[in-house]
Amino acid sequence: MSILVYAEHADGTFKKSAYEAVSYAKAIADITNTWVTAVTIGDISTSELASLGHYGATTVLHVSSEQLNRFINQAYASVVAAAANHANADLVIVSNSFSGKGLAPRIAAKLGAGLADGAVELPVVEGNKLTVKKTAFSGKAFAFTELISDKKVISLNINAFEAQETGDTPQIETFSPPIEERDLATIVEEIVRITDKVSLPEAEIVVSAGRGLKGPENWGMIEELADALGAATACSKPVSDAGWRPHSEHVGQTGITVSPNLYIAIGISGAIQHLAGISASKTIVVINKDPEAPFFKVADYGVVGDAFEVIPKLTAAIKAY
Ligand code: FAD
Repeated sequence: MSILVYAEHADGTFKKSAYEAVSYAKAIADITNTWVTAVTIGDISTSELASLGHYGATTVLHVSSEQLNRFINQAYASVVAAAANHANADLVIVSNSFSGKGLAPRIAAKLGAGLADGAVELPVVEGNKLTVKKTAFSGKAFAFTELISDKKVISLNINAFEAQETGDTPQIETFSPPIEERDLATIVEEIVRITDKVSLPEAEIVVSAGRGLKGPENWGMIEELADALGAATACSKPVSDAGWRPHSEHVGQTGITVSPNLYIAIGISGAIQHLAGISASKTIVVINKDPEAPFFKVADYGVVGDAFEVIPKLTAAIKAY
């Protein structure tokens, strides 16, 4: 079994999730006695391409094309499928990121492959069969998917597998698959970055606040705490619906799914629809003035208290640390 990984970058810098995906592929390659090829698309430096080798890629296929400077789901899926064929890969790994969620099923369809999306740990390998533990029902449960087809695609949840450096230098190859006109039917004209802060889906720490904050004028203390921790900020749905925070921060069943090492929930009741987006968090801290708030049932640590008293003290203590 040879393995291909699609490595995502943002403006020429690989995302942490790309290194996680390569490390995950390398760990499977070690079990199955094979090697890892990575493919990446767009402008990126040679040293950045070489960094994929440190995480276990033997070969890096670099696709550089004016037409592919911006992410186009259909075209990127065709390129990754072509790279899989070029590398004779029977397993393709992508991150279960915003773009990976669109890519994985398209790649699977193009390769006639079985798909397990949202993997949370290494698969169990038995001959040609891979049994993949993955999240299901918006993160409320785990499912075990058996992939028995010859070709397989797995998307890996962000922060589910730690990136591990192995220190090798990869072979870098230019790869130029033909791009069909129909793959360019939808073009992204412009991507407007709305914040330079830590990306929410990739964040290792998330500071999230809800209606308990009373109004948008009180988010200064949330941002200060997030800055002190190097965290991304998030919010509950009513908060973004009310326009207190941008919709890009809305976490939950109808918003973004996060899987940080630490999720701090402040003034959020813990409705099931909110929990659906955060249940893969490794450690959950809840700060709420109501000891009966449902969020405490899923918390690893809880503080019963008024956010307006607790947060400034917490931020001061973290800054002093
Ligand atoms: P509230 O429920 O009003 O809770 C506020 C909390 O703040 C309370 O627990 C209160 O005790 C606490 N509090 C008040 N003052 C303070 C203080 N001074 N200090 C500390 N704590 C304080 N919600 C989501 O978040 N994400 C979703 O994706 C989502 N999708 C939904 C989809 C559907 C179809 C539906 C029907 C609902 C969805 N919701 C979603 C809404 C969800 O059901 C809840 O209504 C929402 O999560 C509640 O937001 P909240 O906890 O901020 O507000």
